[in-house]
Amino acid sequence: MPARRILHIDLDAFFASIEQRDHPEYRRRPVVVGAEPGRRGVVAACSYEARRYGVHSAMPISEAVRRLPPETVYLRPRIDYYACVSREALAALGTISPLVESASIDEAYLDISGLDSLFGPPEAIGRRAKAVIREAVGLRASVGIGPNRLVAKLASDYRKPDGLTVVPRERVQAFLDPLPLTALRGVGPKTAPRLRQMGLRTIADVRQVPLLELRRRFGHLAGTRIYAQCRGQADDTVEPGRRRQSISKEITFDSDLCEVETLRETLYWAAQEVGALARRAGRRGVSLTLKLRLADFTTHTLTRSLSVPTAEDRTLFREAWGLYRQSPWSGKPLRLIGLSLSGWDPSDAPSAQRELFPEAGPEEDSKTAKLYRALDAVREKFGKDALHFGVLPAARSQSPKRSS
Ligand SMILES: [Mg+2]
Repeated sequence: MPARRILHIDLDAFFASIEQRDHPEYRRRPVVVGAEPGRRGVVAACSYEARRYGVHSAMPISEAVRRLPPETVYLRPRIDYYACVSREALAALGTISPLVESASIDEAYLDISGLDSLFGPPEAIGRRAKAVIREAVGLRASVGIGPNRLVAKLASDYRKPDGLTVVPRERVQAFLDPLPLTALRGVGPKTAPRLRQMGLRTIADVRQVPLLELRRRFGHLAGTRIYAQCRGQADDTVEPGRRRQSISKEITFDSDLCEVETLRETLYWAAQEVGALARRAGRRGVSLTLKLRLADFTTHTLTRSLSVPTAEDRTLFREAWGLYRQSPWSGKPLRLIGLSLSGWDPSDAPSAQRELFPEAGPEEDSKTAKLYRALDAVREKFGKDALHFGVLPAARSQSPKRSS
């Protein structure tokens, strides 16, 4: 078996680049996709022209407006459309390797082990990946190639936009050593300051710390993981149907939401979206989380464990609504509501990704599965509002905006 080789591809400034591709008049101008200027909300994505002004995603839109020149283009995100482009890009990558794993809407991992005889050395495969993306969707991408996911991802980050970085196995340590310790997976806002307090800055610094010391400070699992990653040891598997951590939907309101009926309707919409995404991924979850942001910007999350794994809209809605009604924040004005599902049923195997409810369950289960399959097909064809179970109240008085 040939040594494992992983390719990570990241589409550059994905949302903004799609808009610039579709609208030539936006090219070479700062483009911000996100909340409407003058309203509450953040930048979802921005073009490289906007990044030159220090603007980045998750920055409040008011801050972005303050920094950017008047010729800037501000756009609302068209997530469904971007998701279509993402699927086209993913399909194009399938012509290089059958092992393509979508990591997010604009990122994927490919297992390219043993493809040299077909396509040439890693550099050639990297150029090919960029070329198929350009051909299929007309967008630029940055590519990193390495012996595992960690190195491939850091390599694609190394030179952007339009980059291509190959890190052969024997160069891994030299590549990793000068990088800041935050490049390691799982070293975030909690762990990084603690490592810095130890006088460490780079991966080379962290590599000097003995395994037992890392375990003592960060726990057995995290310590071991940090130790291994510093030495370039990481996960090298690519699973086309790898399970997502959670599936979620959030809705930010234009102004504080007070009416219970509108909230109920919005929550039902979120339950439908989460249910449809989970079913498309062939997943059922047992852990439901409701996120509420109040008018004073405090955010609260409530989690409920379901007795049976599910991906059904009605169950998700019923449980979420119950959580909301029992919460101390019921009836209070809201700025944001979010719903997420996780805790996936291990029997929903990754290989069954496209199949809904794969294992034949009791009669009732398969009937429900059939119903949802039909429902999803109609929704896909005629739009999301085409069909629902009829529990929705009257027209919207306040239109919800998707924020993620
Ligand atoms: Mg990207």
